[in-house]
This record gives sequence, structure tokens and C-alpha cells, in this order.
Amino acid sequence: MNIAILGAGIIGVTTAYELAADGHAVTVFERHTSIGEEASFANAGIVAAACMGPWMAPGTAGKLGRNLLTSNVPLRMTRPMAAADLGWVRRWVSACRSDAFATNHARLLQLALYSQQRLRHVSANLAYTFDRSDGHMLLLRTEKDRRHLQHSLDALRELAVPFHEVSAAEARQLEPALHPHTPLVGAIYFPQDEVANCRQFAIIVRDAAEQLGARFEFNTPVTAIDPVEPGTLRIANEASGRRFDAIVLCAGTQSGALLAPLGLRLPVRPVYGYSISAHIPEPLNAPRSGVMDEHYKVAITRLGQRVRVSGSAEIGGRPGHLDEGAIHKLYKVLADWFPASGRLSRGVQVWKGASPAMPDGLPVLGPSRIPGLWLNLGHGASGWTLACGSARVLADQIGGQAPDIDTEGLGLERLKGHGR
Ligand SMILES: Cc1cc2nc3c(=O)[nH]c(=O)nc-3n(C[C@H](O)[C@H](O)[C@H](O)COP(=O)(O)OP(=O)(O)OC[C@H]3O[C@@H](n4cnc5c(N)ncnc54)[C@H](O)[C@@H]3O)c2cc1C
Repeated sequence: MNIAILGAGIIGVTTAYELAADGHAVTVFERHTSIGEEASFANAGIVAAACMGPWMAPGTAGKLGRNLLTSNVPLRMTRPMAAADLGWVRRWVSACRSDAFATNHARLLQLALYSQQRLRHVSANLAYTFDRSDGHMLLLRTEKDRRHLQHSLDALRELAVPFHEVSAAEARQLEPALHPHTPLVGAIYFPQDEVANCRQFAIIVRDAAEQLGARFEFNTPVTAIDPVEPGTLRIANEASGRRFDAIVLCAGTQSGALLAPLGLRLPVRPVYGYSISAHIPEPLNAPRSGVMDEHYKVAITRLGQRVRVSGSAEIGGRPGHLDEGAIHKLYKVLADWFPASGRLSRGVQVWKGASPAMPDGLPVLGPSRIPGLWLNLGHGASGWTLACGSARVLADQIGGQAPDIDTEGLGLERLKGHGR
């Protein structure tokens, strides 16, 4: 088939790879000059099959209204808020109910575990290596942090996800550069999680997809998916549309705007986060892999010669506006755990990114009800974790094969009242 992919973030690139590997003729359209310039640019890099659904844990929504930046609730509402963001928050609150959380968590986990397998499979076939390390640990500053986690840990036990509750001393053995003076009552260690550089991987996979015949057209904004002629893309500065047998929408936070004229109203909204990345002058002072401060919901990861600190989840607000408080928190948490790990005097990269998020925390994967239009979008806080599995599932569906995992609840059918 002749297939167009809209968007060259991690989701679009991995989808291009899988479809090209299946023998399709693939063209990827991207408005920027390169791969992974938006949400996939400087994320934490945690491939955390085990730690999914942090925004949806039961009880989380009940804490709205406090100062969420200083509490350990990860989602923060900032002004101004569009009506669509308010609607998103209402749906998110309902997804935090225990029954909904349990179902969504199980679906997400299944996709995440599959995705990690696919990441390993695809990586093994690549010509280049990328920065990666094994394991990921949740750091608990207080017994209260430990109590907060119990519900999520029970869910992981039920789903047979391997993890170890370790003492503070054992945590310091796993990550010897952890600052000895910062209070630590223990940690949860996930041996099967990993940390890997998402954008670096995307660049390598683009190369592999091109070797398989995929074409990438950069600086090419798609203005519309034609509502009248199925399979046709309208491209800026081109008089006539381009016709394909299938189109896969992987346009991140722009996906909702591209679907609306087709009568599909998806509640996919930008949820903003921040990262700072700094050069590591002395590797012995840096994390070996990745940790997450459970109280502040801030991740510190090692990506080759750089340490990256990431956190915050804001709904509403403006893309260009940097919240000094949120950035300050990243520096504080780095100073608490790995004070000498990064060179902070110069060359620090500060980044604000927008994850394309659905209020129930699950992506939208599969056919769209519009002939020839397929969806792979809305992966929220876990897009890197879910990318390789989502791409394979979608390629199977397009090719008419049964995917390796059960896709119930991952498609449009769960969004009653939003499709046309
Ligand atoms: C601070 C932060 C930390 C994170 N940490 C992690 C983590 O540790 N682990 C994890 O799994 N996930 C993490 N994530 C989430 C992850 O980064 C995202 O879910 C993922 O990058 C989304 O990928 P995407 O391809 O859907 O979107 P994007 O990367 O945004 O790609 C969409 C692409 O579509 C293009 N596009 C849009 N509209 C058009 C158009 N009209 N024409 C042409 N091109 C178009 C855009 O230019 C863009 O390149 C984090 C996110 C943030 C913000």
C-alpha cells in the first residue's frame, strides 16, 4: 500500500519503520526541519513498563485545588485554561476512579510490556547503538511517600510486574552517587525498566526506515486531511492534494485540530512538562541509570554524557511561557540527589515540551471510522515507552493481521460521543 504518515515524532518514526518493514511504500510528512522536534525532543527517556499511569492513580484528582506544584500531585492546572482543557480535566477526574484506573492501568501495562519487547527487537536490528541503561528506581523520602504508593504497588503485584522494595542502603548500592545527606527511607526498584535516549533512537530508526524505502518530507506542514476525498492530504503551498491508500495520524498535540473538520472530536490536549539537561563532568557523581523522586514526581536520568532532570505536568497555560517555579524544582531535586552530577554553570539545555494526552491516559490506536484514516496518537506521559509496541500493533491492523496483544479499549470505540 501507498501510506502517508503525518508527524515525525517518536510515534510517527516508529510507525514508518514498521510499515516500511512490512513492504509498504511510506511517506512521512513533518512540518519541522528534522525528527523529534516537539514532544519527543528532550523527554526523561524512561521506558517504564512497570510505572505507568502516574496521573491517574486513585485519589489524585481529589487533591485538585491545592497548590499542586508543591504537593506530590503531578498534574497542575494553569491559567488561562481553554474550555477544551476544562473538559479534559473533568474526564481525567472520572478516569481517576479506582475501577476505571484498574482497567486502564491493565491495558496500558500490557501495551507497555509489549512495547518494551518490540523496542529490544527493533534495537537489535539497528546499525547504530544509542545511549541506554538498565533499571529504574522510585526514591521514597518519607513513610508517607511509601503509603501513597501502596495502591499502585498492589496493582502491579496483581499484574505480576516484577519489582523489589529495597532499603535505603540497598538503593545507595544500586545508585552509589545518591547524596548521603538527603533523607531516604527506601526505594522501589524496577529491574526490567530502562532509560534510553528517545530522540537519538528516533534519528537512528529514521535511517533504518529510509533503508527500507520510507521517504521523509520535512518543512512540509499538512494543512488538512481532505474531508471529501478519502485518503487525500492537503499540503501548504501545494495546489492539489496528495492521494494515498492509507493515512496514519501521528501529529501529537495537533491531532485534535486535524480531526475536528472531519467530525471527529478527540479530547487530546497538550500537557506540558519541563526538562533540564547538563553535561556530566565526572561520571562517578552521576546516576548509573534513572531515578524518580516520588514526592516531587521528578525524574533524574543518565543519557550518555548528560544528566537530565524532568518533571511537571501542566494542563492549560501557554507553550512559550516558562514557569520559573517548575524549573527551579528540577534544580532543587537534582541538588538533593546528585549535587555534583551536572555542569550547571554553562550549557544547560532548558526545555518545555507538550505531551499529547488523553484524559484516561491511554493512546488512541487503530482505525478512525473514516475510510483509509488510521490513528496512533495521544500517548501522554508514556509516548516513548509505548512507541514501538503501538507502531507494531498499527502496522498489523493496517496489514489485516491480528496484533500480538489484545487491543480492546485502545481504539476510538471507548470514546463514546466523540466520534462521528
Ligand atoms: C518533560 C517530558 C518528559 C517525558 N518523559 C517521558 C519518559 O520518560 N518516558 C516516556 O515514555 N514518555 C515521556 N514523555 C512523553 C513523550 O515524550 C511523548 O508522549 C512522545 O514524545 C509523543 O510523541 P509523538 O510522536 O506522539 O508527538 P511529537 O513528538 O510531538 O510528534 C508529533 C509530530 O507531528 C508534527 N506535526 C503536527 N502537526 C503537523 C502538521 N499539520 N503537518 C506536519 N507535521 C505535523 C509535529 O511537528 C511533531 O514533530 C515525556 C514528555 C515530556 C514533555
